[in-house]
Amino acid sequence: MFDVAIIGGGPAGYTAAIRGAEYGLKVALIEVTPKLGGTCLHVGCIPTKALLFNAEIWDHLKHAAEFGIGNIGDAPTLDWQAVLARKDGIIAKHVKGLEFLMKKHKITTMVGYGRLTGPAQNAIHTVEVTSSAGEVSQVQAKNVILATGSAAKMLPGLEPDSSILTNVEILKMDGVPKSLIVIGAGAVGMEFASIFRSFGTEVTILEFLPRVVPVEDEEISKEITRLFKKRGIDVNTGAKVEKVEKTETGVKVSYTDVNGKPQVKEAEKVLVGVGRAGLTSNVGVEMTKIELDRGLIKVNEAQETAEPGIFAIGDIVLGLPQLAHVGAMAGMIAVAKIAGRKFRPIRRVRIPGCTYTEPQIGSAGLTEAQAKEKGHEVKVGKFPFAGNSKATILGSHDGFVKIVSDAKYGEILGVHILGPQATELIAEAVAVMELEGTVEEMMHTIHAHPTLAESMLDAYGAVEGMAINA
Ligand SMILES: Cc1cc2nc3c(=O)[nH]c(=O)nc-3n(C[C@H](O)[C@H](O)[C@H](O)COP(=O)(O)OP(=O)(O)OC[C@H]3O[C@@H](n4cnc5c(N)ncnc54)[C@H](O)[C@@H]3O)c2cc1C
Repeated sequence: MFDVAIIGGGPAGYTAAIRGAEYGLKVALIEVTPKLGGTCLHVGCIPTKALLFNAEIWDHLKHAAEFGIGNIGDAPTLDWQAVLARKDGIIAKHVKGLEFLMKKHKITTMVGYGRLTGPAQNAIHTVEVTSSAGEVSQVQAKNVILATGSAAKMLPGLEPDSSILTNVEILKMDGVPKSLIVIGAGAVGMEFASIFRSFGTEVTILEFLPRVVPVEDEEISKEITRLFKKRGIDVNTGAKVEKVEKTETGVKVSYTDVNGKPQVKEAEKVLVGVGRAGLTSNVGVEMTKIELDRGLIKVNEAQETAEPGIFAIGDIVLGLPQLAHVGAMAGMIAVAKIAGRKFRPIRRVRIPGCTYTEPQIGSAGLTEAQAKEKGHEVKVGKFPFAGNSKATILGSHDGFVKIVSDAKYGEILGVHILGPQATELIAEAVAVMELEGTVEEMMHTIHAHPTLAESMLDAYGAVEGMAINA
């Protein structure tokens, strides 16, 4: 008998398992694949960031002479198999790390497909676990957490293969493609576009909406579009994909462009990055009171579903962004509730959103447009990395920090960063927003010199028209 049985061993599930054990709960973690880590570790966050780091080094090598490094700039070569091997090594290391953590915390892990069997009987839930050999066993627990994650959505009628790719196939290609069409300019599409452009691929982006990274502040979308175009990426917004066909040499994508004109683009490969569907069918949800909306599960602020004793966390949850850190925090909240401990519900405006492109995007809180819609009297401060000495040292001057604040008390409503290490810099913004710091307080917070973080200080100053370096 367990206090909690968790179905799914991705970042949401394994984080819930560890924190649950830290609270003294008896935890079972059920994962259908033989390796913990989920999408994030195997085909998501970690492998993409590994490749992005390779791409960054490659980009630096292109300018080796500028850094005084000779005899390399002329003809550096890329060993794609070594790139993949390094990525796989990173994954393997962290799979081992997770196995160690499970043992350390005395968490019972089971390899098998978990399915709910209906509501609790006498306050005890039964989860059916089917092994790959078809053997069925049962796990009993006072609570169940669903953490089954998501899979890439496909365009109607398409199946992924060696030329029509999702995040899974693109991470195990034999080599760098000559040309790639990316359908969808959310974080996943933009990151792969960035990686392969660095490696020399001819990249075309087709995005249906009027702008790329549409959840970001408009100025960020505009500037990264300009910078991607400068890198030679063919960015098309307002593009409605009509048909994807296979050809002898790859793929052909027919689409209607922003002016309503039919267009055709051919490439070696196409990546479909049009969002992710929650894996909520075939897990017994229909045998419970759990409410679904477009395949995602409705939960309250403690991650509880409508069925008593059953929680949902991670990519299957309705109304939260599908991000590893959101799933992990939701897992910590669910087990805190189960253990009777204090928790803070997830607040949407305190979630960092990161896109690890070149240059990177890091943002949190309201965009300028959202803040105005909500009726705030908005005061904006903007500071370009061109004025930051560390950015000059790094040779990375593109982008800016934008602070969206409320004029009345200087409340920080949103922070939007495009530029070097934006995904690291955003952590400071989230912390200060979480602690309800103000623009004035941040203007008096000492930031080390020379750092990229100083650009935050200058951006807060810019809200009051008092940036030092611009
Ligand atoms: C290319 C790409 C890049 C990404 N980059 C980032 C990033 O940089 N930062 C970020 O925060 N997010 C990123 N994400 C999103 C992130 O990967 C997901 O938000 C995160 O993995 C969700 O965690 P999860 O635990 O809910 O689900 P998953 O990670 O999908 O894990 C679910 C697990 O449940 C298992 N499972 C499913 N059904 C069952 C069942 N019935 N029984 C037993 N086990 C089951 C699956 O095998 C899987 O291991 C990226 C996603 C992609 C595709």
